[in-house]
Parts: sequence; structure tokens; C-alpha cells
Amino acid sequence: MAEFLYIHIPYCIRKCIYCDFLSISFDEQAARRYVKSLCRELEIKRDSADILSAIFIGGGTPTLLPEDCFKQLFCCLRENYDFSPEIEISVEANPGTVNASKIEALHFYGVNRMSIGIQSFHDDELKTLGRVHTVDEALLAIDLLKKSGNKNFAIDLMYGIPGQTMEGWKETLSKAAGLLPAHISSYELTPEDGTPLASLIKDKTIIMPEEGLVLEMYDHAINFLTGRGYEHYEISNFALPGYRCLHNLNYWHRGDYIGAGAGAHSFMHGVRSQNTSDINTYIDSLTNDIITEAEAIGVSDVEALKEFIFLGLRKIEGIALEEAMKMRPDFMELCAELIDSGHLAISANQLRLTRKGLPVSNMVIVQLFERLGL
Ligand code: SF4
Repeated sequence: MAEFLYIHIPYCIRKCIYCDFLSISFDEQAARRYVKSLCRELEIKRDSADILSAIFIGGGTPTLLPEDCFKQLFCCLRENYDFSPEIEISVEANPGTVNASKIEALHFYGVNRMSIGIQSFHDDELKTLGRVHTVDEALLAIDLLKKSGNKNFAIDLMYGIPGQTMEGWKETLSKAAGLLPAHISSYELTPEDGTPLASLIKDKTIIMPEEGLVLEMYDHAINFLTGRGYEHYEISNFALPGYRCLHNLNYWHRGDYIGAGAGAHSFMHGVRSQNTSDINTYIDSLTNDIITEAEAIGVSDVEALKEFIFLGLRKIEGIALEEAMKMRPDFMELCAELIDSGHLAISANQLRLTRKGLPVSNMVIVQLFERLGL
């Protein structure tokens, strides 16, 4: 039984050049059929859910959905699932796709956390990323949220953008913090295989910033945001006290969760499964009450240990040594070298990445896997 539910809405206005999420161009008729199928999936999966602690509606751009689709979705959720009184209900939004009426409707349905994909406060950087919105539209979206009395909103930012300078990044961070969001995510732009960005880099149309500059940007984000009262609780995430994202924390803790929607992942009783990423197949099969899965894989003990390490070390508090040693009694000895080199440290029986280890977390985790023979 899972207390966490993820719902995927795979529609965007246009694809950003770096995007490898499942999203296609928005079409209202298709989206309406999608929501109908989504509700059917949610009905079918209701018996797998415990009282829900968090619902995360992500995408894509969920706020492209018309208000009545949200009404349909939340009616279905309320009819089929029990909500904890303190439930966190997050919706991802992009500037240009929210107005006062939609924000009010979402609030009415119980949404108490909005996550806005702003990325940058420089129009030229937004253009480079292929984002459809402008800085003014981002500011308007935040203004609308604030006017609706919504204090629990999150802002997503991006560094390592081609052409971005340290000065530009400092301005973006400072403007973001000045808007007083409860939560800020700061992600490094990573060229994923198969994206237009990867091709543009390959043919040298786009040059990525120097690694040293990108590391400096990350370092500055930590210093600046923690100096402004944000707790750095995960490699890329910062929150004011009491505003950590419960949905994501569950993911990093390897807790069970139900995923609904095309391409959505679930993790239940040690099995990771994924719905089909073919949106038409997803919609059509659910009209016959069939959930088409792309795969369902039982996680082996070795995979479980790997996940425990790479998801757990994302959290600044790190992983419980006791738990690690239950899985591998020689765990401590095999970490020794990375502790000596200053990349990992132990405090309060937790193993965690240090400030030296955080910017090179992938390398540290690979080395730890090698020492553990994983
Ligand atoms: S808005 Fe997000 S999901 Fe949509 S195309 Fe851009 S990065 Fe992808």
C-alpha cells in the first residue's frame, strides 16, 4: 500500500531543446480523452493506495489542462482515495499557462503547492533553452500566485546554460530568492542523448560552459541560498524550514509510490514498473480497462543496494550506516578511502557527501559502487 501518488500529464506547448521527459504538443481534445483514461487508471489502482500523504501532478505542463479537466481529476481522486489531513498536493506549472481563475480552481480542489518552471530570469537564456515563456510571464505567474494567497510555491532554476555568465546566474538566484518561494530547485543543464541540445552540441552549434564555471555556479547557489535561510536538503533542492517536498523525499527514501498516466513509474513491494509511453496506446487500452505496462521488474538485492546508495546520497543527510551494513556488512571498510579523500563523511551514524563530494556526486557514487563490486 502506497501513501504517495504521481500523476503524469504529457502535454506541453512546445518541446524545450533539452527535454527528455515524456511530453507532446498540447491538443485539447486529445488531453480530454487522456484525462478520462487517467481517471479510469486511478479507479483501477485505488486498492493499492493507503491514506495518501502526497499527490504530485507533473509533466509535461499540467496547467495546460482546462479547469474542468482538473475538476474531473480531483472528483475522481476524492471518490477513490483517502487523503491525510496534512496531504501535500503539488502541481507543476509553467509561466504563460496559469491565470487567476485556474489558480483559484486548483486551490479550491486542494492543491497546496505549486511548482513553477522558471529556469532563468534572462530572456536570452530562456530562448537558448527553447522555453516558450519570457521573464515577464514568469513574474506575472508568481504575482498571480501571491495575490491568491499561495505562499507554498516552488521555483525551478537552471545553471550551466550555454552563454550563461556567473553574473547572470547570480542575478537569477537573487531575483528568485527575492520572490520568497518556499522551495527552490537548482538543476544543472545536462545534455541527454537524443535531445536537440545533444545534437546541437555535437555539431558545435552550441558550446556548453566550462566545467569549472558550472562547478562555481553550483557552489554559489549553495552559499547564496543557505545564506538566505533555505535548507539545502538534497543535491539540487533547497527549502525554507518545513517546506521540503514530501513527494520527492519519499522517492529518495525508496518508499512505495503509485504512478498513473502514460510513461509513469510505480514502485510497489520491491517491483518497479512503468506504464506504456505510447500515449495513444495508453488512452485506448484504458477505454477497455487495461493498463498497458512497458515493463515490471523486481528489484534484486544488488539493485536495491545500488538504489539505496544513489538515491540516499542525494539527500544531504545521507544514508543510515546501520541500514547499509545490514545489506553489506563490509560497507564501512569499503567507504574508508572516499572518507579519507574528503568526498564522504560520517556523522550521527549517517554517511553523506561532503561539500567536496557534492559537486562530483556521480563520480563518488561510481567509485563507491566499484569498491563494493556493484
Ligand atoms: S516545459 Fe518541461 S516537460 Fe515541457 S518540454 Fe519543456 S522541459 Fe519538457
